[in-house]
Amino acid sequence: MWTLYCVHMFLDFLFPKRCINCEKFEDFLCKECKNSLKVVGFQRCPNCKRKNFCGKFCDMCLGSFYFDQLILCFLYDRNTVLQKLVVNFKYKFLRDISKFFINILENQFLKFFSGENIVVVPVPMSKEKIRLRGDNHAKILADNFAKKLNLKFCDALWRIHREDQAKLKRNDRLINLKNSIFVKKGYESFLFGKTVILIDDIVTTCSTVNECSKALKTAKAKYICVLALARG
Ligand SMILES: [Zn+2]
Ligand SMILES: [Zn+2]
Repeated sequence: MWTLYCVHMFLDFLFPKRCINCEKFEDFLCKECKNSLKVVGFQRCPNCKRKNFCGKFCDMCLGSFYFDQLILCFLYDRNTVLQKLVVNFKYKFLRDISKFFINILENQFLKFFSGENIVVVPVPMSKEKIRLRGDNHAKILADNFAKKLNLKFCDALWRIHREDQAKLKRNDRLINLKNSIFVKKGYESFLFGKTVILIDDIVTTCSTVNECSKALKTAKAKYICVLALARG
């Protein structure tokens, strides 16, 4: 333990931590830049985006998606600190950023859930994409989140490789995604009657998390809450 501590001290000395946004020598994110991140207080109806407390659908929008609730952590604004954090997390995987994200996910989660009958599931990435990226960052988030809160983690979904969603328009995204996400064979029993916390980093149109939710509900998951860092 002591040796590990010394190694970390030595590494910090050799490579002092710099703020990923303003490059100040302080931490992976300096105090000022950290304070500029706005944590979401009131959530919104996932469909019409009208404000409400818990991120459930308003009466008008009930039934428009397969999931039941969407909880976000940060307000998202392009070219801001959050975007840089997510890019650094995805491509360089900085442990500090992962810890920071997990803490915020935990805070938001505990506002609405107590931990009973819950399974944590990550939004899946296709094998081809994992080969390109090295890892599925939603899975890393979900796994560490579940460990920290002592919840069951279940990598229950798999995904057929299709064209990158980000490059497509909304309608093409829906067609592109159709029948591309499934529950893995033999995983149905882990989901039956459960509340699923579906973890993603940035959700945009919600079409991916919706396709995941469709598969999870087919496997008889009872309730699905999407927990994401932000909505882009
Ligand atoms: Zn800074
Ligand atoms: Zn609504």
